[in-house]
Amino acid sequence: MARPGTCANFNHGKPSAPVRACSMCGEVVNSGIPLKACSEAKHDKERRDRNVFCMDCGKRLASDSRGL
Ligand SMILES: [Zn+2]
Ligand SMILES: [Zn+2]
Repeated sequence: MARPGTCANFNHGKPSAPVRACSMCGEVVNSGIPLKACSEAKHDKERRDRNVFCMDCGKRLASDSRGL
């Protein structure tokens, strides 16, 4: 399943990923995990973890915060 240009995130290779969405491309890697309604605080934490997409809801996080 290694298509060219495919995201290299390790969650894609798992039969049962621990998160709903890939933090690098936002693709759903485990649709068995219910979609969560995230708070801004949750997304702030995801940003600090250098995620591009939220792993719980798959939403693209703003990338304008520079490091920590
Ligand atoms: Zn991905
Ligand atoms: Zn979220």
